[in-house]
Amino acid sequence: GELPEPSEVIVAVTEAYERFRANREGAVADYIPVLAEASPDWFGISVVGARGRSFEIGDVERTFSIQSVSKPFVFALVCEAVGDVDARRLLGVNSTGFPFDSLVAVELNLDRTMNPLVNAGAIAATSLVPGSTAEDKWDRVREGLSRFAGRELSFNERVYASESATNLRNQGIAHLLQSYGRLYFDPDEATDVYTRQCSLDVTVHDLAVMASTLANGGVNPVTGEAVVGPGVCRRVLAVMATAGLYELSGDWLYEVGVPGKSGVSGGIVTVAPGKGGLATFSPPLDVAGNSVRGQLVTKYLAERLGLNLFASV
Ligand code: GLU
Repeated sequence: GELPEPSEVIVAVTEAYERFRANREGAVADYIPVLAEASPDWFGISVVGARGRSFEIGDVERTFSIQSVSKPFVFALVCEAVGDVDARRLLGVNSTGFPFDSLVAVELNLDRTMNPLVNAGAIAATSLVPGSTAEDKWDRVREGLSRFAGRELSFNERVYASESATNLRNQGIAHLLQSYGRLYFDPDEATDVYTRQCSLDVTVHDLAVMASTLANGGVNPVTGEAVVGPGVCRRVLAVMATAGLYELSGDWLYEVGVPGKSGVSGGIVTVAPGKGGLATFSPPLDVAGNSVRGQLVTKYLAERLGLNLFASV
């Protein structure tokens, strides 16, 4: 299948925006100090079809740090580099049921792997990015994510500094993983590259292009570049379905029926295989860390645009 006719998509996106604009639920993240500067009113929606057409409304030009929405894309790069068999063996692919920054989850899983969409698995994934130095790995991450977006992404120095000064927990996770042989590079350097990765600036449009690349078998529909292979995309989407919305991933799949990934700066990407990518940006979050408006918009649009993977009619 494909997305509905462009005129229908435009109407649905506009109605989603108007319908949820006045919603005042949720709270802007403040555990990374700079994120607390975000306005709860910022709100943008972008849909990019698997052939590259885009439909968008609201704050579509505003940049924000990508945060955890980087995770599926870095996992994709790692899967492409090491293969999906080793990627699963080294990182794990099961949901944890615990918050994204849990150490208990690592302790409780007997083989000490997590999945690449929670911090432990994501830092481990970043540690597997090809490159013999942290600088090499960081270049690979930045170039790879830029290829998904179809433009050179810039790095937000302020967010990086703010998170670096406060990320003792992530450093702890990296050291814990290392103690179990489940980190594949120096723990402090891996955490640093991971923190840089989270500090790349994107717009909601960039996120929708990135999502659409996963919807299109790894070929960026705007630039035509093959970023990763179709087999990698399938694995990435499987992990997003399992673990993309923190510990509320089951609720999300039950309600929306499409793989997604959220981040604490307020972005959510959703991938409808073969159809396109959807991205929302709205900073107020629920208790798990998922954008409130983003979830409402995505559920609404998934229904209006017929995206649910489990729908047979
Ligand atoms: N950089 C953030 C952290 O590691 C990302 C969190 C998120 O978006 O889930 O805490």
